[in-house]
Amino acid sequence: MIRKRDMYLCQVCLRQGVYNCGDIEVHHAIKIDEDKELTFDSSNLITLCQKHHRQADDGEITFEVIKKIIEEQEQTNEKNLKLFQMNSAVVGY
Ligand SMILES: [Zn+2]
Repeated sequence: MIRKRDMYLCQVCLRQGVYNCGDIEVHHAIKIDEDKELTFDSSNLITLCQKHHRQADDGEITFEVIKKIIEEQEQTNEKNLKLFQMNSAVVGY
């Protein structure tokens, strides 16, 4: 689900203008040992490459940065969904 939302691309690489779909992993913004209920919460998940995943875990990429990207992705997702619904409505006529 999350990989699909993020189009199977590392979201940090993407913001550097790189389309990286190799070695992607799902990162939890808040570690799941701290809150198990967040395991499948899309607002806590982000697709990252191995390198950026490690940097996020080490704190080289801050929690704030990760959170901001997730928020952007969630909004993009809603927009796409609305667009999809609009298009479906048009086709319906
Ligand atoms: Zn990356």
